Amino acid sequence: MPMQQHPSVAIIGGGPAGLLAAQRLAEAGVQGVAVFEAQATAGRKFLVAGHGGFNLTNGEAVAAFGPRYGHRQQAFEQYLGHFGPDALRRWASDLGIATYVGSSGRVFPTDEHKPAHLLRAWLQRLEHLGVQLYIRHRWLGFGPDGLLLRDERTGTEFSVAPRATLLALGGASWSKTGSDGQWLPVLEQSLGLQSVPFRPSNCGVEVAWSAFFREKVGRAPLKNVALSCGNQEARGEVMLTEYGLEGTPVYALTPAIRQALDIQSPAPLLLILKPDLGPAEVLKRLQQARRGRSLPDVLRQTLKLGAPLPTLLREVAPTVTLAETAQLASLIQALPLPVVALRPLEEAISTAGGVPFEEVDEHLMLLRRPGVFVAGEMLDWEAPTGGYLLQGCFSTGAWAAKGIAQWLQHTAP
Ligand SMILES: Cc1cc2nc3c(=O)[nH]c(=O)nc-3n(C[C@H](O)[C@H](O)[C@H](O)COP(=O)(O)OP(=O)(O)OC[C@H]3O[C@@H](n4cnc5c(N)ncnc54)[C@H](O)[C@@H]3O)c2cc1C
Repeated sequence: MPMQQHPSVAIIGGGPAGLLAAQRLAEAGVQGVAVFEAQATAGRKFLVAGHGGFNLTNGEAVAAFGPRYGHRQQAFEQYLGHFGPDALRRWASDLGIATYVGSSGRVFPTDEHKPAHLLRAWLQRLEHLGVQLYIRHRWLGFGPDGLLLRDERTGTEFSVAPRATLLALGGASWSKTGSDGQWLPVLEQSLGLQSVPFRPSNCGVEVAWSAFFREKVGRAPLKNVALSCGNQEARGEVMLTEYGLEGTPVYALTPAIRQALDIQSPAPLLLILKPDLGPAEVLKRLQQARRGRSLPDVLRQTLKLGAPLPTLLREVAPTVTLAETAQLASLIQALPLPVVALRPLEEAISTAGGVPFEEVDEHLMLLRRPGVFVAGEMLDWEAPTGGYLLQGCFSTGAWAAKGIAQWLQHTAP
């Protein structure tokens, strides 16, 4: 679609943060809102998020929500106060998508609603509100006449001069969805932005397993275990893989593991095999085992620890025997797994790094470029999986939209 006139607000990036900001502005009566999306369709990562259990947000109490954003808790409490989990569920419901809180607290669309339904209903609503969506339009940076864009279908470059801009370009993982982080050097070079390097978040870790272990165990789940790193602990199911570990508890501990790896490698990650039993109980059960049994038999019969546990124990502590009951008990409650690296950024569910909060004001406007706001994963924050990521993107999108609406009111057209 050719550009008829300059938009009043240009939203760059058609992910959840950008699309919600566009919706909020249009609903507030702002005319001329345009979304420019580099890919052939909007919301690609939003759809990817829908492949493996689509957690839109989380049903936990608001007081517990803020701490999920780590040292950005205070800022996020403000954003969540403006557009929190309840507002997000109402938004989905308003698009005809009912949600429910699962047993883990995660909020999902009901079974009959696929993520694609939600996205379709959302794009229709935006169209109805008069938001113009320009797909295959890539933002290249700032030019003398405003924002420099390229129509990817024709290669034509052109400028637009909106009264306000929202950059919602995403993080730097899963680049095939369009969030490729290429915007970072653009902001550094054109504005002198002091960025924070991208780091993988919510990702698997690498453990230098022996060839024997890789071949014998390959992939195997460890159910109802806990992991601990530093003073952080996370429970759930961990998946042993050929290269290391995956699973929700691993993802939840990414910030702690990353911090530990910055200091030493391998990083000390502890596997707690029986988190519901105290160390004394584990010891007592091992001591009660009948003599003459093999280690795998004892582990299975006294602690219900079947395969691949004996192989894992031998891999990490090859010399431990049944005779050293106390040592065995303490290994079962704190088995050190030598983590040598995080999995690559490209595979991570989300990224830390990007635009630091020191580079934006309280409305998420770039201090170095008044009138240009930032929202979503391109800001330097991280949160665990479980709905906190999308919620964070929606909340910052809504917050930036509020800032843009105020900016429009206070600047002359
Ligand atoms: C496998 C996977 C599963 C996930 N599951 C969940 C989940 O269940 N729950 C949850 O809360 N979160 C989940 N997430 C995370 C969530 O999807 C992201 O945090 C969220 O999509 C980020 O939103 P955003 O709007 O900031 O950026 P994005 O969704 O990444 O959107 C940014 C958009 O900007 C566009 N863009 C980039 N550069 C340019 C440019 N120069 N010009 C124009 N457009 C550009 C991109 O093409 C993209 O469409 C998952 C992520 C992955 C990868």
